[in-house]
Amino acid sequence: MTNLSESLREKLKQHFDLHVFKIIKKQESKDGTKKYLFDVLDNNAIESVLMEYKYGKTICVSTQIGCKMGCKFCASTGVKFARSLEPGEIVEQLLAIERDENIRISNLVFMGIGEPLDNYDNVMKAIKLLNHPKGINMGARHISISTSGIVPNIYKLADENIQCTLSISLHSSSNEKRSSMMPINNLYNIQELMKACRYYIEKTNKRISFEYALAKDNNDSLEDAKGLVQLLKGTLCHVNLIPINKIEDGKFNKSSNESIIKFRDYLNKHGIVATIRRELGSDIDAACGQLRKKEVSK
Ligand code: SAH
Repeated sequence: MTNLSESLREKLKQHFDLHVFKIIKKQESKDGTKKYLFDVLDNNAIESVLMEYKYGKTICVSTQIGCKMGCKFCASTGVKFARSLEPGEIVEQLLAIERDENIRISNLVFMGIGEPLDNYDNVMKAIKLLNHPKGINMGARHISISTSGIVPNIYKLADENIQCTLSISLHSSSNEKRSSMMPINNLYNIQELMKACRYYIEKTNKRISFEYALAKDNNDSLEDAKGLVQLLKGTLCHVNLIPINKIEDGKFNKSSNESIIKFRDYLNKHGIVATIRRELGSDIDAACGQLRKKEVSK
């Protein structure tokens, strides 16, 4: 920016960073999903995924380099947490892919590496940049935040008065089972989580999406479905069933198609709207739970 004075340039350099990511690797799935590995310029690398849906292009962004949550079925757990991403680094994932593909992305999901509600302030700032008419100009309705259940920040989010969709990674209606899959449940159990969800619904008038990854002989029986109906009955919600993706060293296996369909039908028959999430990008390890932090190899 040589049209600016040297002193101003120096000032800008001291106070601001321009996050322009380098693409280290780009992979394309046979279903059209694309996975990017970005160099975030401090020896770390993160992944972002671009998916094609009928209603437009959706990006799945990472919010942290690594993840502290320790969910037993997720590949992002397998590597040490390095740091949270800055708001600019969150938005740059979208800008870098738009530049590379020469496209406009219409939807964004906070479902990549990291726990968005563990990087609350930066995620809120990123949403404001995404929303702003002079920024990306993406409506909040086109943005989804997924959380493993950081209860105090669900209350905070409810009070923000933004129109994002909230997804909760539930995965079981029994505390014992959920704790064995997700250590966060030892800190905030299902009852506390549901209380926060009810507050969110009351405050925003928006329905919550509950994510439920089905693992064979673990949480996919009709007993489990019954427990889920009891837990969610009367709640303004939708259940998103995800056939669990096997990860390296993971002890959970994907449920059979038959069990997944039976599980969905049971929920639908008992008044809970449930759909099965279409699996995208699993051949390039870009599906749910398959992203992980990487070191930049020199
Ligand atoms: N930390 C946030 C967002 C990232 S994960 C959260 O926990 O919600 C996005 C979704 O993928 C979550 O619902 C997560 O539980 C799910 N997921 C993680 N590993 C998975 C796997 N191996 N198979 C299917 N879904 C998985």
